[in-house]
Amino acid sequence: MSDGSTTSTTGATTSTLPPSVSVRGVRASYGRIEVLHGVDLEVPAGSVFALLGPNGAGKSTLLKVLSGRMRTTAGEVLVGDVPIGKTPSEKLARQGICAVPEGRGIFPNLTVRENLRIWTYRGGITMKDVEEQTYATFPVLKERRRQLAGTMSGGEQQMLAISRALVTRPRVLYLDELSMGLAPLIVAELYELVGTLARQGMTIVLVEQFVTTALAVADHAAIMVHGRIEQQGTPSEMADAALSIYLA
Ligand code: ATP
Repeated sequence: MSDGSTTSTTGATTSTLPPSVSVRGVRASYGRIEVLHGVDLEVPAGSVFALLGPNGAGKSTLLKVLSGRMRTTAGEVLVGDVPIGKTPSEKLARQGICAVPEGRGIFPNLTVRENLRIWTYRGGITMKDVEEQTYATFPVLKERRRQLAGTMSGGEQQMLAISRALVTRPRVLYLDELSMGLAPLIVAELYELVGTLARQGMTIVLVEQFVTTALAVADHAAIMVHGRIEQQGTPSEMADAALSIYLA
């Protein structure tokens, strides 16, 4: 279609172009404890946005809200000009809004192929397509295809987790701590892929504890402290700000 839109298997019409993500006055709580106290963010379409901040600031919680894994108590999230409302994560994934959660979200007791097969159940994609796409992006996973996912290296498990998200050819991708527990060389490889995905046309929001790594790939960045966005701007503007906040 000339306007870049397609009709998905769910019947919803979605654009194939990357949309912007707007977060407006979002509040969220665990039980009675509020941890997001009115978050506002504008993530431009097709950009890489790095969300930085100290431990416990609420970064992972915000990604949970953005990807439909947690409800807000106030405010709204829009993808393009469409509010995601209470849409659950599985449905958002079918609309091309996907997350690679902290802790990876793969099935450790299944082989790589079995993990891939499970993801075809989201519909609209064959095992052949999933395997071709995955092995083209991460050739090492082809060698590991009969291995239990939980016995692979941390980097290989992260590759499998990313593959899971890429299966639906997302327009929006949320990445939580890609670098968690990984060697620097693997981290560099994964972030190179993030840059490539963004250039291919994807809106990416990433949470990352390694500030320099995140700012190297990001177009925009924000610093979150105590459940609020403290500052946002260009990576160079945020580099000094991040340093003072982390050292404070
Ligand atoms: P980190 O970088 O350490 O992962 P973060 O910025 O991602 O931190 P969150 O994980 O979003 O922060 O946590 C924000 C606050 O919410 C913290 O005070 C945390 O203890 C609390 N919290 C997170 N998950 C839960 C949960 N499942 N139940 C209760 N409180 C939680």
